[in-house]
Amino acid sequence: MTEKLSPIIVLLGAPGAGKGTISQYLRDKYGICHFSTGNLLRNEIQNGSDIGLKVKEVVTSGGLVGDDVINEIVEKNLEETVGECSAVVLDGYPRTKRQAEVLDAMVSGRLKALIRVIEISIDKEALISRLSQRLVCSNCGNTYGPLDGKRVCSCGGSLIKRKDDEESTIRERFKKYEEETLPISSYYGDRLVRVSGNGTPEEVAQNVDKVLCDFGVEKRR
Ligand SMILES: [Zn+2]
Repeated sequence: MTEKLSPIIVLLGAPGAGKGTISQYLRDKYGICHFSTGNLLRNEIQNGSDIGLKVKEVVTSGGLVGDDVINEIVEKNLEETVGECSAVVLDGYPRTKRQAEVLDAMVSGRLKALIRVIEISIDKEALISRLSQRLVCSNCGNTYGPLDGKRVCSCGGSLIKRKDDEESTIRERFKKYEEETLPISSYYGDRLVRVSGNGTPEEVAQNVDKVLCDFGVEKRR
């Protein structure tokens, strides 16, 4: 009998494609552990670990945390988590083809897991129009779309438009994302499944369900 390997799901998707919503769904409905590089770095800083101190130094001086450090943090956290969770979702990692290779090396080494990739594909023009209408709470950071019809956040904070959500900025971010991700998606080839992020949250959730079923990940009972 072969040992069942828990999947590590790499989540790819353009800024605003709904990665946050999908991650939340995966946590709530499947009990999948979710790692975003941002959170991992923040945790290390908070824990005051050796590597956390290194990260803090780089971040405070306004620098970018290097690949080696990020790889190390991801590996450490995966080692602690794989096996405990039905699956792990990685968000924001790998960011380069090199990181994807490193992740594969981790998995073929000590880490017993299977890499699966979900790319949320979305209609670019629809996304741009949605993002440029997005409002963010100046207090808690909650985001609201035009359909929410809100002027004030439920926390009482006022809703503002982020500079990041100007159309030209969005187009630039999109272009950067495409340039960055193309080498990663082609690297993964057959291991990558595209999920449509167009449609209502319920429709997107259904698309995600189908893929997870194929991955052999079950919903939480
Ligand atoms: Zn708020």
